[in-house]
Amino acid sequence: MSTLGKISGLPEQGYFVQPVAQLPFSDVQHRLGTDRPAGLELECPLCEAPMETLLRLNTQDTRLQLEGLPLHELPLMVCTQHVISEVQYSFTSAGEPVVAELEHTVAAAAEGEGIIEIPDTHPVLLHAVPDRIAETRQLVNEGRLEEAADWAGKFDWEQPQNQIGGTPLLMNRHVGAPACCLCGQTMPFLASVVVGVRVMGEPDPLQLQLLYFLCRRCANVALVADIPVEDYS
Ligand SMILES: [Zn+2]
Ligand SMILES: [Zn+2]
Repeated sequence: MSTLGKISGLPEQGYFVQPVAQLPFSDVQHRLGTDRPAGLELECPLCEAPMETLLRLNTQDTRLQLEGLPLHELPLMVCTQHVISEVQYSFTSAGEPVVAELEHTVAAAAEGEGIIEIPDTHPVLLHAVPDRIAETRQLVNEGRLEEAADWAGKFDWEQPQNQIGGTPLLMNRHVGAPACCLCGQTMPFLASVVVGVRVMGEPDPLQLQLLYFLCRRCANVALVADIPVEDYS
């Protein structure tokens, strides 16, 4: 398993994820936060704790091109006990999750209780990422900072945000798209969620961006930790 490929999003159009405390039930499609769907248990292959759901996506939302998956809600999951550089899990035709493959590198670990802070559970609305922000992010990800600087200060593109599809703003530019461990194809980017990580010796949680990739053919999800190298070395 490796992070080789150039990152490209599917859907191509990106959406910012905006938590909304009170949304009419009929408008609720996707949820951010720990709300674990009943019957969807997935054990962390490293520590055997149940993995938590960070983001739940309704596969009927045609904007996200998830219609072919064997489940109504796609859970994007994480183990809160440590930071794993990469893990892949897939879904059977009955929608049951199975851990497909794990990269055993642990980027940060602490004793005892969980170190990853999951955001509060909220329904979310999706807002299309404006083209200018998407283009600027692409420049930044490619290291073309001078060109991107033309836009700096004109709008808030610098802060990574929870996002579905499109181009994520990487914390570590050297992160790439993983290959699906079931079919070998480079996996398109699906979503990014920023979480806090409590690290010993640091008074405040560090920011960690979790990148989710999805092979639609295999119903296989890859979680890749996008870690600013200097913070964890
Ligand atoms: Zn674990
Ligand atoms: Zn695949």
